[in-house]
Amino acid sequence: MKAMLYERFGERPEIVTVPDPSPAPDGVVVKVHATGLCRSDWHGWMGHDTDIRLPHVPGHEFAGAVVAIGRDVKRFKVGDRVTVPFVSGCGHCYECRSGNQQVCEEQFQPGFTHWGSFADYVALDHADQNLVTLPDSIDDATAASLGCRFATSFRAVVDQGRLRGGEWLAVHGCGGVGLSAIMIGKALGANVVAIDIAADKLDLARSLCATVTIDATTQSDIPSAVRDATGGGAHVSIDALGHPSTCSHSIMNLRRRGRHVQVGLMLADHARPAIPMDRVIAHELEIYGSHGMQAWRYGAMLEMITSGLLDPKRLIGRRLELDDAVDALVDMDSFAGHGISMIELAS
Ligand SMILES: [Zn+2]
Ligand SMILES: [Zn+2]
Repeated sequence: MKAMLYERFGERPEIVTVPDPSPAPDGVVVKVHATGLCRSDWHGWMGHDTDIRLPHVPGHEFAGAVVAIGRDVKRFKVGDRVTVPFVSGCGHCYECRSGNQQVCEEQFQPGFTHWGSFADYVALDHADQNLVTLPDSIDDATAASLGCRFATSFRAVVDQGRLRGGEWLAVHGCGGVGLSAIMIGKALGANVVAIDIAADKLDLARSLCATVTIDATTQSDIPSAVRDATGGGAHVSIDALGHPSTCSHSIMNLRRRGRHVQVGLMLADHARPAIPMDRVIAHELEIYGSHGMQAWRYGAMLEMITSGLLDPKRLIGRRLELDDAVDALVDMDSFAGHGISMIELAS
């Protein structure tokens, strides 16, 4: 099969031919139809993820069709259209048994712990526990866009943030995660204030009906600007970028008893930011992480998509072929793209 592979961190990946994968006894092989390019792929390529063993094939948000199954797989068959959360659970640890596969103790992460989806085929272990069957009405690119950023945003806003209609949601950073959070917040009936440094990203936020947008380049005190715009602070606030300053703003712009959810990754030099813990105590703030979403929660999200309440297709930016994706991955740190970049493979 054709795959994007790198031999060393930070060294340009190449499109190469490697042997087709075969399924583990509890696994499947999926023909990849569409796969999103995410900042985590760039972090992985830079060597920021200790799970990756070289040589490596990246790619962790995708949709496709099952082409081979292991002998122990019961719930899926050849031909099924599926996707999978980027964190897949082992099925037998304490977290998996309590329904929290997104923090499994022995995670299977295609594109990190195992070879991923920037290839014609991807092998997935623990299939019965993690695969999600796709409705016919959701196309491959849209389904692929759910696997990482959209699902993580859904969990961040709905399950961790517990956002309700009429509340205020602040979203710091309007990339793929942030735009997803805006769309989900509006679908829940909340008011959304979106913050970014790029005027065109704020235009996108407005097109998704963000109630208020704040250009961070013109505001010296962003937490105050958010508190003013929301009549006292956001009920739920998300750092969708992953930076010590956006993390701090997201906590400081909360109203009393508000909930901060950290979704943007904090890696390398940013891994241990200063948290205003005095404010967390005095205002009884809640601080959460959000790390993917369990396969069993996909049903709620897919229903909101098929009913038209959520339209993740609007978040897809440029569409690429696998050969073009090498440049796209390497340039990710400098490319000011919009929404989710989608790699489409011949099905
Ligand atoms: Zn991702
Ligand atoms: Zn587990």
